[in-house]
Amino acid sequence: MKSTAKTPYASQLFGNDPHETLTKGAAQRKAGFRAVKFGWGPYGQGDAATDAAHIAAAREGLGEDGILLVDAGTVWVDDVEAAAARLDALKTHRATWLEEPFISAALGAYKALAERAAPLRLAGGEGAHNFHMAQQMIDHAGLGYVQIDAGRMGISDGKRVADYAAQRDVRFVNHTFNSHIALSASLQAFAGHEKDDICEYPVEAKALSREITQSLIERDGDGLISAPEAPGLGMEIDADALARYLVQVEITIDGEVGYKTPQLT
Ligand SMILES: [Mg+2]
Repeated sequence: MKSTAKTPYASQLFGNDPHETLTKGAAQRKAGFRAVKFGWGPYGQGDAATDAAHIAAAREGLGEDGILLVDAGTVWVDDVEAAAARLDALKTHRATWLEEPFISAALGAYKALAERAAPLRLAGGEGAHNFHMAQQMIDHAGLGYVQIDAGRMGISDGKRVADYAAQRDVRFVNHTFNSHIALSASLQAFAGHEKDDICEYPVEAKALSREITQSLIERDGDGLISAPEAPGLGMEIDADALARYLVQVEITIDGEVGYKTPQLT
């Protein structure tokens, strides 16, 4: 199966107020990202009017032709009406998806909201630990996008989900908010799926997440990214960089050392 390039979306938090959200959207657009996701922070914590102002600001910062994605971070748990009160703004400003309005297992709430949300699609699945959990969401939650984290589910089960989703016209997306090792692992499951053409790309990762590898998965001249060509995950650990984060730990059980921080270099 041929590996296909993906459009990376800059994954970041909402600003603390709409003006900051606008600024953050414009900054990612300036950095060359055509697609941007805003999540968590104040979204869903206040009233629907404040949330609508954030969505309008996100669209303005991103520009009319940008791909706008929104992540509610399970803030409404299973409250369909609370989520539905946000749909007008999301549709007006042409968000592509609303992610995790509810906790993963609230399948009925997902389904009820999905029926009212079109053409806006729902996204979810980062909380799925195995193929069967993701399968339930694909079959019963009315998802347009299923988002799988290789760190939580593994690559083989992730690939199984990608294949299953493709048969049901649900698009597969990775969930990755930290290192490029995780990004490479998450890309493996759907690298060969041409229709699954968008991928999460961490832009607010902590320094350790960037320094853990000798290289990063960078965008090509067209602004796209691809799974590395090298064997395995195709990423090399930077042991020298990691050594700076090393914390000396020794665990003794009944006088015997059970664990001691290893030497990295
Ligand atoms: Mg999320």
